[in-house]
Amino acid sequence: MIAKKEEKRIRTRFAPSPTGHLHIGTIRTALFPFLFARKNKGTFILRIEDTDLERSKKEWEDELLMGLNWMGINWDEGPVVNSSNYIGEHSPYRQSERTKIYRKYLEQMLADGHAYYCFCSKEEVEAQKQYLMSIGESPVYRGACRDLPKETVEKYLKEGRPSVIRFRTPTDTKVSFNDLIRGEIEVSTETMGDFVLAKDLDTALFNFTCAVDDVEMEITHVIRGEDHIPNTPKQILIIRALGFEEPKYAHLSLILGTDKKKLSKRTSKTSLIDYKDDGYLPEAILNFIAFLGWNPGTEKEIYSLDELIADFSIEKIQKSAAIFNVEKLDWINGFYIRKKSLFDLTKECVPYLIRANLIREIAVEKYSIIETGEEIHLEEIEKMVALYHERLKKLSEIVELIDFCFLKELDYPTELLKWKEMSNQEIIDSLNKSKDIISNIEFNKQNLEKELMEEANKLTNRGNLLWPLRAALSGKKNSAGPMEIAFVLGKEKTIIRIEQAIKKLK
Ligand code: GLU
Repeated sequence: MIAKKEEKRIRTRFAPSPTGHLHIGTIRTALFPFLFARKNKGTFILRIEDTDLERSKKEWEDELLMGLNWMGINWDEGPVVNSSNYIGEHSPYRQSERTKIYRKYLEQMLADGHAYYCFCSKEEVEAQKQYLMSIGESPVYRGACRDLPKETVEKYLKEGRPSVIRFRTPTDTKVSFNDLIRGEIEVSTETMGDFVLAKDLDTALFNFTCAVDDVEMEITHVIRGEDHIPNTPKQILIIRALGFEEPKYAHLSLILGTDKKKLSKRTSKTSLIDYKDDGYLPEAILNFIAFLGWNPGTEKEIYSLDELIADFSIEKIQKSAAIFNVEKLDWINGFYIRKKSLFDLTKECVPYLIRANLIREIAVEKYSIIETGEEIHLEEIEKMVALYHERLKKLSEIVELIDFCFLKELDYPTELLKWKEMSNQEIIDSLNKSKDIISNIEFNKQNLEKELMEEANKLTNRGNLLWPLRAALSGKKNSAGPMEIAFVLGKEKTIIRIEQAIKKLK
């Protein structure tokens, strides 16, 4: 009996090119291989594909690492682990540092004939492509330099003629692979031609470096965006030519906006940093992103990272495009905001208030209100945040919701104080009534509620008392209720605001 071949330990990778801001969609390309590796007790590798030296920048790589760390997508092997340079079996993990490895394989392929030097000029290649298109064939390189005698190649190289290294693509055959999401994909080699592997021995290009690294790093499952489907047959051919077995492939569908168009900077925020700055929580983004093209097949929508790992499977990834619906993200974010303790939420809101120049930190959990110079403790800010704990969708919103708590005098149109058909005099009377009540009670939440509601209930329209008071205290069209706000502002400020409103009306 033949012993069953032992399944290889699962190794997945995320292989971003640090050429721009970390796109929110890119997080999914990291998340799925990560979840798959974790679920199967495998290894998740981060490989930085920075061979395009002009477009790759350290700052983009830093942003990438920061973004992944913030999201809790931790890698087992990669350029930096626990802020120390990781020396692993497959290190280095930056392609720009792997030139020697690529060179070795390029030399091997040149020696065994799987690759060859091509000296055609750009113009010649272009002319050939134009011709092929004119006769209705794929505009690919058809190998004019394929069979140059060895001596000619050596002579040209010695002369320093410009050249590239091309793959000797097998002619008239097909490459097929079983995509774990899309099923069988088959491509004719006639559509590939002899594509370029490297500009020279020290400058390998994407398909080559990616293919080499996937086998060198013993990747078992390549999970990546569908934009790479056309590259896969080429990479498979390279891997086979090198004498290795290719990994399994799974290509994730596109992510589109609700307008069914590609997410673009013009119509929405696209970079993870912007979402972070806007006050989306990492656990909410993670939960939301996981559902872009995957779902557990149940009604359950709220998933922690551990639950995602437990329930994740490639079979449940969809082929069709995923729709990025910000409203859904807002809803999930709101859910996680409500799960936070008020204390934790307040601490996360404080940086937004500081950035908006409302307060300044003066000591631990102590702040100074910029406009009034008053000192304020975190506990008091907590009360303000509490007004909106149930409604907040993202942290940045806190600024416009509670800014009125930190201002000396509110700037709002007098019209705002008016409820329905009230005259100015009626509003003044109403505000004076509220002022009287507030001045004469023992100032606490219950009393405010009780006395003001009692008074309001006497009227045919409660709004006649409550609306002008709420507008006077918040200066806003929409806000929390007047009693809640009065309690947060405190007696003195509440009375001052009522007086300021009355003055506006006179
Ligand atoms: N570096 C490629 C990119 O950022 C990804 C390559 C891959 O996943 O195979 O698009």
